[in-house]
Amino acid sequence: MSEPVVTADPDCLFCRIVAGEIPADVVREDDRTLAFRDIDPKAPTHVLVIPKAHHRDLVALGGAPDDAAAVLAAAAAVAEDEALGDFRAVANTGAGAGQTVFHAHLHLLAGRPLTWPPG
Ligand code: AMP
Ligand code: ZN
Repeated sequence: MSEPVVTADPDCLFCRIVAGEIPADVVREDDRTLAFRDIDPKAPTHVLVIPKAHHRDLVALGGAPDDAAAVLAAAAAVAEDEALGDFRAVANTGAGAGQTVFHAHLHLLAGRPLTWPPG
């Protein structure tokens, strides 16, 4: 695995959270990832897992395999630490799919029945 390179976009909300410029309720951090509670939770537990480096969406994150693997490992660690039980991991990709923050993130949703298919 290569050394982490944390690229940042000064206009990106999640880059500003990574930089400590905007506060967040952080539940886990490592050299490549940050996990924090969603400000507008859609389930009793709603955690966002992000790469510290700026990748605009899941497709871009897929082009950075070390960051992509780190996000998945962090999601698994949060699932265990927060005792999520059954949960859903979601990556809205593109405005038409509901993406509003263009810095790749996984939503982890748990604590209530989660129906399928989603809306
Ligand atoms: P998405 O709409 O899939 O791009 O997800 C973006 C998520 O970021 C939404 O669920 C928002 O509620 C959440 N969000 C926006 N601003 C903040 C913030 N300052 N701290 C934590 N979560 C946020
Ligand atoms: Zn960013």
